[in-house]
Order: sequence, then C-alpha cells, then structure tokens
Amino acid sequence: MDLSLSADDLAFRAQVRELIVETFPDGEAYEGTSQHEARWHAAMLARGWAANKWPVEFGGPGWTATQHFIWERETTAAGLPSQVGGMGMGMLAPILFAYGSPEQQARFLPDILHNRVRWCQGYSEPGAGSDLASLRTRAVLQGDRYLVTGEKIWTSNAHQADWMFCLTRTSDEPKKQAGITFLLLDMHSPGVEVHPIVSIDGRHMFNRVTFDDVAVPLENRVGREGEGWTVAKGLLTHERTGQAFVSLSLDLVRRIREAAAGLPGSRGEGSLLHDPGFAARLAWAEIELEALAMTELRTLSEVEAGAAPGAQSSLLKLKGTDIVQRMTEFFVECAGPYAAPWFPEITGRPETVGPDWAQPETVRYLEGRAASIAGGSDEIQRNIIAKHVLRL
Ligand SMILES: Cc1cc2nc3c(=O)[nH]c(=O)nc-3n(C[C@H](O)[C@H](O)[C@H](O)COP(=O)(O)OP(=O)(O)OC[C@H]3O[C@@H](n4cnc5c(N)ncnc54)[C@H](O)[C@@H]3O)c2cc1C
Repeated sequence: MDLSLSADDLAFRAQVRELIVETFPDGEAYEGTSQHEARWHAAMLARGWAANKWPVEFGGPGWTATQHFIWERETTAAGLPSQVGGMGMGMLAPILFAYGSPEQQARFLPDILHNRVRWCQGYSEPGAGSDLASLRTRAVLQGDRYLVTGEKIWTSNAHQADWMFCLTRTSDEPKKQAGITFLLLDMHSPGVEVHPIVSIDGRHMFNRVTFDDVAVPLENRVGREGEGWTVAKGLLTHERTGQAFVSLSLDLVRRIREAAAGLPGSRGEGSLLHDPGFAARLAWAEIELEALAMTELRTLSEVEAGAAPGAQSSLLKLKGTDIVQRMTEFFVECAGPYAAPWFPEITGRPETVGPDWAQPETVRYLEGRAASIAGGSDEIQRNIIAKHVLRL
C-alpha cells in the first residue's frame, strides 16, 4: 500500500502550514483564549475552511479524505482546534442538513458558521443516559408552541450556551423510542435554569438544566413529532466519529517522547524513554494508534463516498478513547510526584512545581477519564459493535 502523499496533497499541506504561520507568526502558541479562537476562526473563514466538514452545498470546502486527514494532523500538531463552533458546527449542523427545513437551515446555519451562537446538547437525564429512550422531559403541544418541563444532566457548557438541541417526550408509546421529539430550545427563555456541576479536574463544564414550562415555538421542532429518535441516532454517529482522537494521540506521543527523554530511567541509567518496560508499552500503544489511524482514514473515505458513518464510528470511539487515555497515563508516569492534583482555585496558590507540562497533562489525564463515558459508554459501544458490526 502506497501511503505517500500526492503532489496535490503536498501542496495542500503547504497551504495549511502557511495559514497557520500567517495566523500565529513567530512561533506564537495558540492558548485557547477567546481572542486566539476568534483570530483562528476568522483566518479559517477567510479561506472558506471554517466549516471544513460541511457538504459543499452548505458552504464546505469539499475536501477529500486525505485533505481532512492532513488538516487534522497539521492543526493538532500546532495545538489548534480543527474547527471552531463546538456542538453547533460538529453535531447539530449535520442534523439540520439531513432533517432541518429550509427555513431552519437558513435561520441557524449562518450563526453556527460565524460562531455567533453557542449550542449545547440536551439528551441525558437522571436515569436516562445509556438508556436514553427512557427520557422523561415532557413537551406538550399547546397551539403553536410546545411547553417543556423536566430536567437534563451532564449538559456540557450549558452555562455558556445560547441554544440547546434536545430530546423531549411528546407521547407515551409502548415503544419508548417512538414518543420522542427533537426540539431547538432557546436557553434564554423564561423557565430555563442552569445548575453547575464541578468535575474531578476542577473545572466547571457540566451542568444540570431544569425546565419549567419553557415555551418552544413549533417551528423549532426538527423532523416530525415522534421522529426525534431517528434524528438523534444520526447525530450520535457523527459525534462518535469525531471521538477517535487520532491527531491528539499522535501529538501526545511526540510530546511524551520529548518529556521521557529528559527524565532518568528506572535503573538509574539512560533516560526513561529507553527504559525497556516504558519503551515497550509506548511502542505497543503507538502500533495500536497506527491501526486506528488507518481505520479512521477508511471511515473518512467511506463518508466522502456518501455513506453515513454508521456503527463503525462506535469502533473508532471505543479504541480512540482507550488509546488517548493510555497516552495521558504515560504523562502521569513521567510527571511522577508532580502529578499530584493541583488546582489554584482550591489551594489559593497560583505557583506550580515540576516541569511546565506536568500540571496541564495531569488535568488532561483526569479529564480524559470521562471520554469513555461521554457520547455513550464503552460498554454501550461494545453492544453496538456486537450487534451491528459483528452481527452477533
Ligand atoms: C465528558 C462528558 C460530557 C457529556 N456531555 C453531555 C452533553 O453535553 N449532553 C448530554 O446530554 N449528555 C452528556 N453526557 C452524558 C453522557 O451521555 C452519559 O453520561 C452517558 O450516556 C452514560 O449515561 P449515565 O451517566 O446515565 O450512566 P449509566 O447509563 O447509568 O451507566 C452506568 C454504567 O452502566 C453501564 N451500562 C449501562 N447500560 C448498559 C448496558 N445495556 N450494557 C452494559 N453496560 C451498561 C455503563 O456502561 C456504565 O458503566 C456527558 C458525559 C460526559 C462524561
């Protein structure tokens, strides 16, 4: 198999590198601040690359699978997000392409493209996570609007969101899936309350969101009443394809190597990088990562040829999560005692000890534990693979 890049792909890679250097000249690092994000987003918009996964008819650049692959690799290596616009850009937009009315597309897509509004995902509820179809948040149609009452949990970034795409119960069919409806809910509506949940990495990302007779106009329903499950399932496969974390893991390997090369080996000689136990485990993780990268490429080319990501995305998510978590463990091993959790907002001491990477990588390790739950837990992915890929 010839995996070398064609002349056109090399030229594309050069353009990507040029854009990165033009936007962040003189080796300036991307720090994830809102100013940096806006600068990067503006640069991508100007090139027509902001909505790089969208179909051409909705403003996407029409990249090949290889171009997507190059983009992911180059942006991740530079520490940049491959797209800006969060859940609106990556998760809701594909749903609007498939199920949204022309009016909904015209109303919501431009704001997503220009990152003018933020979206959150209202699926999970207490008692309805893996068993999502058991959700109970009720939407009752009254005239030309639904009144929504109930509760969502683990809603990432709800405290910053303007809108929520959510699943609601509109009828009590014997088959639970048949009574679910997909709504777009304005988070600034009366009756919405956001309650913060602080996670183990010390950050506030999760929330519990409650609704008390929140009015949602009928025009904000995506698909027909009772069709929400079909809409939601399409969205989840897109969510999971985006969770293979290949570029991130590749970048972590490079940095683990750098960090371990500067640390003593366990037998007091050589560096940790050449310590046989450490080197063998890292090599094994890298081999699995290469195999995952190939599977991801295969999925991308199938998607490019018009297929929906399907159950294969569960495989990518399961394996990708496992590998990225192992990578974060290598960093904790490198950090040794400096990996002890350190949160300035708790200790009140802003100074850090140990190498520069020890604290952020420890936070990444803690945060990374959640990856095998978010977007459907490992066990649920295995069930899907058993049923739909292996046909057991
Ligand atoms: C980082 C992160 C971000 C998230 N963001 C959002 C968000 O923005 N919006 C949103 O709606 N939700 C979000 N979630 C919630 C997430 O979708 C749920 O946590 C997930 O679906 C699991 O549901 P649960 O927490 O209720 O666990 P449960 O479903 O109660 O599962 C508990 C355990 O039982 C196992 N289990 C359950 N059913 C089965 C089965 N049939 N077979 C085998 N094992 C099973 C699970 O694997 C798990 O280990 C997020 C979660 C995380 C961790």
